[in-house]
Amino acid sequence: MNTVPFLDLGRLHEKIREPLNEAYHRVMDSAWYCLGPELEAFESEFANYSDVKFCVGVGNGLEALSLLLKVYGIGPGDEVIVPSNTFIATWLAVSGCGAKPVPVEPDVSTHNISPDLISAAITERTKAIIPVHLYGMTADMDLINGIAKKHNILVIEDAAQSQGARYKNRRAGSLGDAAATSFYPGKNLGALGDGGAILTNDEEVANKARKLRNYGSVVKYEHELAGVNSRLDEMQAAFLRVKLSVLDEWNQSRRDVADFYSRRLDKASVIVPNVPNYAEPVWHLYVIRSNERNKLMAYLKNRGVETVVHYPKPPHFQRCYKKFEDLNLPIAENLAKEVISLPIFPGMKSEEINTIINAVRSFQDEK
Ligand SMILES: *Cc1c(COP(=O)(O)O)cnc(C)c1O
Repeated sequence: MNTVPFLDLGRLHEKIREPLNEAYHRVMDSAWYCLGPELEAFESEFANYSDVKFCVGVGNGLEALSLLLKVYGIGPGDEVIVPSNTFIATWLAVSGCGAKPVPVEPDVSTHNISPDLISAAITERTKAIIPVHLYGMTADMDLINGIAKKHNILVIEDAAQSQGARYKNRRAGSLGDAAATSFYPGKNLGALGDGGAILTNDEEVANKARKLRNYGSVVKYEHELAGVNSRLDEMQAAFLRVKLSVLDEWNQSRRDVADFYSRRLDKASVIVPNVPNYAEPVWHLYVIRSNERNKLMAYLKNRGVETVVHYPKPPHFQRCYKKFEDLNLPIAENLAKEVISLPIFPGMKSEEINTIINAVRSFQDEK
């Protein structure tokens, strides 16, 4: 039986083996591995790509979020609005700085935070909203920014899953006061290890983040702030420059796969993603819904199709967040029971896509 992998990074990297090797040798031979020319070049290229003035490379996506909260002075006694339906890192950044994550439910048709429900969650302690562009599709940012402006609170985008996505022709990462992104290998723009970045048009925010990531220092052994060590290293920056050069092409390849799925999957048996007019997604994940999700997943597995659930348990049901377990967040809880992510990555073969579509169809037929 032919199997279809959920994601095949080896196959992806094979296509850019030469430039990746060249990047490796360039850094190796330079004998300079932290805070150097590759990072500076990548920061400038990625800022330019994202339509913002500044990019600050850091250790990973969680630290990009945490450092931004620190830059804005958010901490104990403060509240930050987060989606109830997200990867746990969004919440961990908030609780990690001592502030309280205040979850807001998603719009079930987009899986993203529902702007209609945000105002009711705002109190005099609310300092920021962190919308997540889940699965590679932007949240409804004009509405979110409007609410934030009215209440004088910050908007920090969690753009970890949305490199290259657009909202009304503007890039994800340029849509709020600042953004955090992740270069974890499986993301649309992934390193060959960990990495992350902060994006912003605010020079003060960028400068402070630049200090914080490097022991609170820009001049060696002069420490203005009690910072951390969270730097995007030269090797990863060099790899990311290669991968940024093919990002648009690879996102288009994901879009082609998504279009094919959306046209061919049987809408009577599964719910396919809905794309609002404002959004141009980059399909980090292709997530469908089924009221027999677990059966469908097992059925696909028997036919060699690997699938994953993003995410099987919302943050408030995680053991580390026992204090939130009594929260009533039925939309996130139900989505967690219904969602299933089909394989999607650049360079999938048409036989693979057909295998998946036929398997989902025959599941319905065999019932
Ligand atoms: C991956 C991810 C993060 C965290 O990024 P890391 O680099 O793994 O720390 C944060 N938020 C979302 C939505 C993510 O998908």
